[in-house]
Amino acid sequence: RGRIEFHGVDFTYPNRRRPTLRNLSFTVEPGELIVCTGPSGAGKSTIAKLLLRFYDPTAGRILLDGLDIRDLSRESLRDNITILQQENLLFSGTVRDNIAYGRPDADMDDIVRAAVLADVHDFVNTLPRKYDTPIGQRGRLMSGGQRQRLAIARAILRDAPVLVLDEPMTGLDALTAARIMEPLNRLMAGRTTILITHDLRFIPETARQIVLEPVRGRAGRIRVKPAGRRDT
Ligand code: ADP
Ligand code: ADP
Repeated sequence: RGRIEFHGVDFTYPNRRRPTLRNLSFTVEPGELIVCTGPSGAGKSTIAKLLLRFYDPTAGRILLDGLDIRDLSRESLRDNITILQQENLLFSGTVRDNIAYGRPDADMDDIVRAAVLADVHDFVNTLPRKYDTPIGQRGRLMSGGQRQRLAIARAILRDAPVLVLDEPMTGLDALTAARIMEPLNRLMAGRTTILITHDLRFIPETARQIVLEPVRGRAGRIRVKPAGRRDT
């Protein structure tokens, strides 16, 4: 489970004349990691928005396990594709609420197990109110690294076969970013992962890359590079 296919995907934002993506085709096999890279404005996040169906392609199709994602129910889509974004943390609520968001059936054991894998359990245990601690608006009572680990715990608990990571290292200093690699790898293990980043420092050599190269005023060139090669 978890094969993603883009077939000749074009996308033009409703309020724009020029396409952002043109004729984008690639396949990600179940459990495979693919890195989507390119400079700011190249269209990387647009790929995430299409996968989550904030928008649908102007032309072409996106398939999940052979089915057009337009034919999936909202529930089925969210059970199958998860995005990791710090901004997705609830505006308020406790550590427990935030990890369990989207999984109302999860019990405390499930929540703690996810927190352990995400390397956030030890930290939560040092808090006076532990899992009942409010995280503050958009998690502002937590540090950036802790917020990111809470988001990882939530994604682990969601357990979707396809994962979209949109700039997971952005806003983190080098040390915090390095510390997050281990929980991130635990989250990615066995899941189809589309990793969107302009930060090439943390990209594994084994990953295939989609390189978006913007061209002024129109959709850029798109190259799909095999694993083990990179430009920089
Ligand atoms: P990246 O993630 O590579 O930085 P984006 O996918 O965010 O790039 O943006 C690609 C292009 O689409 C940019 O030119 C950006 O200005 C434009 N864009 C992004 N979001 C919107 C939107 N909601 N409406 C119109 N244009 C947008
Ligand atoms: P999902 O993330 O499962 O697709 P929704 O589409 O309902 O869920 O919500 C989108 C985002 O809105 C969530 O990721 C979350 O950040 C925010 N959100 C949803 N419900 C709440 C809530 N009760 N309180 C605060 N934020 C919420």
